[in-house]
Amino acid sequence: MTNIIPLHAFQDNYIWVLSQPDNPWCLVVDPGDAKVVNAYLEQHNKKLLAVLVTHHHADHTGGLAELRQHWPALRIIGPAAEHAKIPALTETVAEGDTVSLPQLNQQFQVMAVPGHTAGHIVFYSAPVLFCGDTLFSAGCGRLLEGAFAESAVTMYQSLQRLGNLPETTQVYCTHEYTLANLRFAISIEPDNLDLQHYQQQCLIKRQNAEPTLPSSIGLEKKVNPFLRCNNIDLQLKFSKNSAQALFAYLRMAKDQFKS
Ligand SMILES: [Zn+2]
Repeated sequence: MTNIIPLHAFQDNYIWVLSQPDNPWCLVVDPGDAKVVNAYLEQHNKKLLAVLVTHHHADHTGGLAELRQHWPALRIIGPAAEHAKIPALTETVAEGDTVSLPQLNQQFQVMAVPGHTAGHIVFYSAPVLFCGDTLFSAGCGRLLEGAFAESAVTMYQSLQRLGNLPETTQVYCTHEYTLANLRFAISIEPDNLDLQHYQQQCLIKRQNAEPTLPSSIGLEKKVNPFLRCNNIDLQLKFSKNSAQALFAYLRMAKDQFKS
């Protein structure tokens, strides 16, 4: 049995921890803060085997140096394309690579998903997807590098690839942005009953201080406007003649959206 739980960091970051009962090792994803990770490990009597890093932003990498100091044999695995910005990496990976973690009996496939950053990668081991800041529940990452029009094309293609994973894929995003994303999604599709129902479920979870994540690819295809750009009705509503054009429009509209 494998458990994946979130550690809370900063305002709304989740550092996902993968562990197994009766196994001393565990894995963390995007540790922006080392303290919460070490506190968890100490409390649960676990050792840190490896860290997966999706992209270079400080809220995903800020804890790396301290973790590396604390765990000298630690494997820190992240995007080759952003190595210069993440000096703590001990292994770099790129599209098509496999990350093997025999101590946890796990193998992750690496997919390059440029858009939020130019070198962003995700880690996939069916049914688990650690997707960093590329896909959020009911939303997606902002386009923070390069020209908007170009990044919009690459991000659209990246999200298409994630959308083509099996519907049962569990989506472990790095931020609790779901309620804010849903306000935007409902402004785009006010009559989408799946969206309304999902918003009710998420409101209850947040009132109980529970995470809304993980989501699933099947659910996101019903509620996430950024995975619904090939919907012809939506394209017509916003007078766009392609899914890509609608994506670029929605991404810009979300940047300016005041909920
Ligand atoms: Zn980021």
